[in-house]
Amino acid sequence: MLARVRTGILGGTFDPIHIAHLHAGETALHAAGLDRVLFIPAGDPWQKTDDRSITPAGIRVEMTTLAIAGTLGFELDLREVERDGPTYTIDTLLSFPAEEELFLVLGFDAAVGLPTWHRWEEVVARAGILVVPRPGYDLSEVIEVVPSAVILEMAALDISATSIRRMAAEGAPYRFLVTPGVHDFIETHGIYTQSSIGDRVVDAKDQEEAQ
Ligand code: ATP
Ligand code: MG
Repeated sequence: MLARVRTGILGGTFDPIHIAHLHAGETALHAAGLDRVLFIPAGDPWQKTDDRSITPAGIRVEMTTLAIAGTLGFELDLREVERDGPTYTIDTLLSFPAEEELFLVLGFDAAVGLPTWHRWEEVVARAGILVVPRPGYDLSEVIEVVPSAVILEMAALDISATSIRRMAAEGAPYRFLVTPGVHDFIETHGIYTQSSIGDRVVDAKDQEEAQ
């Protein structure tokens, strides 16, 4: 019998994609013996629209493409940005063939929020949950919330896309927190300058999870 394909799913807003996302992906690939890790930029992440506008999907996809280019086992997957309506992880999981083994790769912060996701019991029924540490969040809380989670060992990296956006807007150095291609792209196009952030308008309706 053929072995089932083991696919890791690393979803996020990726605004921008940074080295903790990439390190989590590679950690999952190796530690869990995955065949591939799909980086899935979120379409309309409804849990993120209260406090800020989100960079248009096309730009987030471009940065994700640049970040993973040439890394064996890493793939870009556009199913969430191409889907209309809110981004629900359960819809993403159910869009894969039943014979494919799926594993969600989540940071501690996303893992503790899992019970707030749409149809989350079905999410954990369909996919294994692989969790990587994130500073500021407790392992004990993760285990309590998602007892079935497999905790992967990884150097905890105290960075976030939020802090990188702020650094880029303020002209502070963040070059080595993203890949060279992503850094050049952000700087060349002024993605996170104060004015470009202020100008963005986002449809606040119909937005869901994606960590
Ligand atoms: P933002 O600050 O905009 O929320 P973020 O850095 O948290 O961005 P997301 O796109 O929200 O990045 O996260 C996507 C996934 O990557 C989530 O599962 C999240 O837990 C994980 N992740 C992001 N940053 C880290 C980090 N520093 N360590 C571990 N996991 C991380
Ligand atoms: Mg986040």
